[in-house]
Amino acid sequence: MKQRKRVLVTGGAGFIGSHLCEKLLDEGHEVLCLDNFFTGSKDNINHLRSNPFFEIIRHDITHQFFAEVDWVFNLACPASPIHYQYNPIKTLKTNIMGTLNMLGLAKRVKARILHASTSEVYGDPKMHPQKEEYWGNVNPIGPRSCYDEGKRAAETLMMDYKREQNVDSKIIRIFNTYGPKMRADDGRVVSNFIVQALKGEDLTIYGDGTQTRSFCYIDDLVDVTLRMMKKENFAGPVNTGNPGEFTIMELADKILEMTNSKSKIVYGELPGDDPTQRKPDISLAKEKLGWEPKTNLEDGLKLTIQYFDNWLSA
Ligand code: NAD
Ligand code: UDP
Repeated sequence: MKQRKRVLVTGGAGFIGSHLCEKLLDEGHEVLCLDNFFTGSKDNINHLRSNPFFEIIRHDITHQFFAEVDWVFNLACPASPIHYQYNPIKTLKTNIMGTLNMLGLAKRVKARILHASTSEVYGDPKMHPQKEEYWGNVNPIGPRSCYDEGKRAAETLMMDYKREQNVDSKIIRIFNTYGPKMRADDGRVVSNFIVQALKGEDLTIYGDGTQTRSFCYIDDLVDVTLRMMKKENFAGPVNTGNPGEFTIMELADKILEMTNSKSKIVYGELPGDDPTQRKPDISLAKEKLGWEPKTNLEDGLKLTIQYFDNWLSA
């Protein structure tokens, strides 16, 4: 291998973090995974524990942490609305105090730090598809604000530490990502619909199902996240997502068809401030990182359905 990096992954026991830890170890790096296990699970990383270059520490990033590392991936933060709204003040603390602590660490040891931001910084977007220049349409006092505004504040911290303290900071804005190792009770739409369809339960569409999302398969997301970390002289923010756009109704129909499920669709109340449309413009990622997603929705869903099918029958 070219050069073994010492890598810190916060939120490393979560859905995206655990896939990232796996890929980093595959590439020969040394990985230190930090997690408070709020939404993460040891099941996601157990298979990595026999690797002598993998370490796991139970730690909450709202508290300081010291380690000598070369790269920091700051992923710690619950991502599903039900989880980030469970304790909104804690979500803000994780985004602000947690990011501050990780920036302090990066500054002290001169590490490069990548922050996992989100398409939610665009709120309920008036620009479609969303480009990085767009400043967003975010409610500062609504039910999603702890996450949206927390992530926006974290972006501000990343940029101010770069400008004022010369920290080598980078921002990716992740759009809805799905795949194996999502929690069955995660509450996000792909895992909810697949688990409901496989169990023969009703599929719960919130609102009328005309709202849209763009779904990125986990392997593509891990690929672009690593490309961003390795890229010199490019801080972002950069959109990382799959530009294929689907209504929630289309997603439900596709999952029912692919699982051969007899489940019915039921309609529930649309949660407050639920964005009506979302689709990334990924020209910047293409230009700077030479990246575009390879997995289409059908192929990604097939792998995810297989995963939940095995998980349910285990
Ligand atoms: P996840 O909930 O599966 O993982 C988050 C991890 O962070 C969990 O392991 C959790 O236990 C840990 N965590 C939460 N608060 C912590 C704290 N204070 N200290 C230490 N650990 C803490 O979510 P995910 O889908 O893997 O998301 C990972 C990151 O990517 C998050 O920052 C999320 O905001 C961002 N993101 C994800 C998506 C997506 O579609 N999955 C989209 C946009 C942004
Ligand atoms: N959604 C739904 N049924 C569910 C879960 C979610 O209709 O069981 C809707 C939700 O209201 C939103 C979309 O699916 O419009 C995506 O929701 P998710 O929580 O996955 O992500 P986010 O809203 O953060 O993009």
